[in-house]
Amino acid sequence: MTHKLLIATHNPGKVREYRDLLADLPIEVTCLDAEGIALEVDETGATFAENAQQKAVTYARETGLWTWADDSGLEVDALGGAPGVHSARYAGPDASDAERYRKLLDALTGVPWNRRTARFRCVVALATPHGEVRTAAGACEGIIAFGPAGEHGFGYDPVFYMPEHAATMAQLPPETKNRISHRGQAARAAAELLREMLEA
Ligand code: IMP
Repeated sequence: MTHKLLIATHNPGKVREYRDLLADLPIEVTCLDAEGIALEVDETGATFAENAQQKAVTYARETGLWTWADDSGLEVDALGGAPGVHSARYAGPDASDAERYRKLLDALTGVPWNRRTARFRCVVALATPHGEVRTAAGACEGIIAFGPAGEHGFGYDPVFYMPEHAATMAQLPPETKNRISHRGQAARAAAELLREMLEA
C-alpha cells in the first residue's frame, strides 16, 4: 500500500528539496497548501525537537496522514544559545532576514573572533496517524562573521562563516549547502527512518 506523506510547511522551497530527497521511496508526497490545510501549529516548545514533534504529531492526528515536520535555527555560544528556537522571530514578526542578522551582529559587538562560535541545528520529526513519532537531527558548526557576505541561501547564511570552506553559508552554491547543512543532514537521516518505518 502506498502511504501519503504530508510535508508540514508552507515554504515551497523546503517542499521541493524534501520531495527530491524522498523521490525513491514508495510514498506520495504532498504539502499543506496542496491539501488545503489551514491549521497552524504554534511553535511553543523549548527545543527544536519539541517543536518539530509537536507539529508532526498534531498534523498527523488532524489529517490522518503520515507527516514530516521540521524546526531549525541558529545557536550562538556568546549569547547563551540565542536566538535558538526564536531565530525566525529574533527581530520581531515582520523583520527581514537582513534586519535579523544585523540585530545579531549588534548583539555581538566587541566579541572577538574566537568567541563567535555558533551552529545551525535542524530536527525533522516523522509522525504516523497512530501517534508514533521519531526524530532525526543535524548540526553545522561555524563562526558569526563581523559582516555579511554572499548572495545564496536565506536567513542568517550571509553571516555564518565556515572556516573549513573559507566561505559563509551564503557564498556556497546550493548543492554544496545541501550536502553539508544541518537541514541536509537531518533530512537524509529522516529519510532513512522513514524507509525503516515504511518497511516495518
Ligand atoms: P524554520 O525552521 O523554518 O522555523 O526556520 C527558523 C529560522 O532559523 C529561519 O527563519 C532562519 O532565520 C533560521 N535558519 C534556519 N535554517 C537556516 C539556514 O539554513 N540558513 C539561515 N538561517 C536559517
